[in-house]
Amino acid sequence: MIYLDNAATTKMSDKAVEEQLFWACSNFYNPSATYSQAVKVSFELSNARTRLKKLLGVKNGDIIFTSGATEANNLAIRGSERNGDWEYVFSSGEHASVYNLAKQLELEGKVVKYVPLVESGEIDITELEKALSTKTRVVSIIFVNNVTGAINNIKEISKIVRNKSPKAILHIDGVQAFCKIPFKLSELDVDLFSISAHKFHGPKGVGALYVKNKSSLKSIVYGGGQEFGIRSGTENVPGIMSMTVAAENIDIKSNYEKVKLLREKFEDAIRDDKIKLVSTQNGSPYILSLLFEGINGETLVRILENDIIVGRGSACSSKKAGNHVLQAMGYSAEQIKGAIRVSFDSSLTEEQVVYSAEKIKNDYLSLLEKLK
Ligand code: PMP
Repeated sequence: MIYLDNAATTKMSDKAVEEQLFWACSNFYNPSATYSQAVKVSFELSNARTRLKKLLGVKNGDIIFTSGATEANNLAIRGSERNGDWEYVFSSGEHASVYNLAKQLELEGKVVKYVPLVESGEIDITELEKALSTKTRVVSIIFVNNVTGAINNIKEISKIVRNKSPKAILHIDGVQAFCKIPFKLSELDVDLFSISAHKFHGPKGVGALYVKNKSSLKSIVYGGGQEFGIRSGTENVPGIMSMTVAAENIDIKSNYEKVKLLREKFEDAIRDDKIKLVSTQNGSPYILSLLFEGINGETLVRILENDIIVGRGSACSSKKAGNHVLQAMGYSAEQIKGAIRVSFDSSLTEEQVVYSAEKIKNDYLSLLEKLK
């Protein structure tokens, strides 16, 4: 079986599993307790924050551990809300954890602006400039789009936000970027940045929110005051330590080069007049979205599943009919019906991706033939 849905989740690395077991079984103490064994755990949690900041490429600020990026994204946006006449700016290509929260803010009567995407899937910068004002409180933008792999230019976005909305908090959903594409957070000038462990060979149900200035963030969960009083609840120590080790064991640059090559081989082998590549060469090599004319993508997923596993865009929204990201890029409902997302990992071989591309193409063409 060849797994090509690595944007949905990845297999845990051996080192990450080993680390998780150690903190679950040998060093299981509650980091908030006062005896020396527990204090040591608390000390290692602090170390993990520093280690993650190093990997993110930033010295200042803090790391708040969460149950994953859905929570980190919610904390970033909800935690930055303030009373008053404030506005919110999102792109139309946000992950469901931001997009559905944006819809909820609208229901609550807030002014919410959605910035359209350009044809290749990035945020429309001219429209972003128009949406921003001195009343903007929160801007939340995805770094690498989870459906298309389109990469937003965060440096440019942050310059524009700082200039037009000096009081705005800028949050970036960095889930599909961290440990995959090279960047230094200190160079991006953002306030908040979300990551999720299971996207980089760590465990599920654990993630983090980087916070430049924690005094600007309000708690959305009340309790024992863990995580600087911002995110109460006993920390998932095994998950956090495992996430940190998982990230430290990734060679971002060499994986990137390898995946880029694999993606090229895959694209060469799948090319056909009836298969449209949605993702462009400027995006993340890890994610490739394709539209298969005249079929339902779900049928193809099922035909392939015993041999090759592919996804349907975002795992979180794949059970729903439409896909707001592809819609925002201008694709019709009929085209979106035939959408498949292929997402790569550096552990794959050239033979595996070429075999998969050929098999996907052949299975698709015979399905199309049957439907005639
Ligand atoms: N943002 C993006 C871009 C994602 O791809 C995902 C995972 N599908 C999330 C947020 C949510 O992450 P988690 O599964 O950790 O809640």
